[in-house]
Amino acid sequence: MLYTKRKTMKIWKEILKAAARGQSLPFDADALMSLAREQATKAGNRGEVPIGAVLWSEGRILLSASNQRERKTRTAGHAEIELLDKYNSLYGTWRLPPDSVVVVTLEPCLMCTGALLQARASKIIYGCKDTKNAGLRLVQQQIESGVFDHTVTIQSGVQEKQCAEMLSKFFQDRRRQKA
Ligand SMILES: [Zn+2]
Repeated sequence: MLYTKRKTMKIWKEILKAAARGQSLPFDADALMSLAREQATKAGNRGEVPIGAVLWSEGRILLSASNQRERKTRTAGHAEIELLDKYNSLYGTWRLPPDSVVVVTLEPCLMCTGALLQARASKIIYGCKDTKNAGLRLVQQQIESGVFDHTVTIQSGVQEKQCAEMLSKFFQDRRRQKA
């Protein structure tokens, strides 16, 4: 299922209303990916590589974040790291809640995969694959076979086409501008 911008706004409104009432919402990977894509679009509008992430736990969206590498001139400013940083300072703990799901538009790189393992994420959902095959999938088998001291469930391909298109369009535009 694909969400339009209007529908995405509606999802946000419903989420905020439910949160204000202290209610939870049923888990919906598509809706969460739409919100992550919205964050990615914001990053793209700032001239950042468009990547966005959302953190979900116990029927609530806790946070969203986007790639901030250029704006902050920060090597580690990937969307997932920004998400964890926000979580750390808002909740005062390095450990994510036990049922936390991190939804991100692009396959996490090795740095972010490591950080999400360290943060004890329960599940990672990503949209499109890293085209250089240099991300999470390199270590997925090791993660799933318990090599690390934490295992995380991995789901890929949620709105894969839209997430990939957003990135390829961004790089196309950038090449065109440089030409
Ligand atoms: Zn990363």
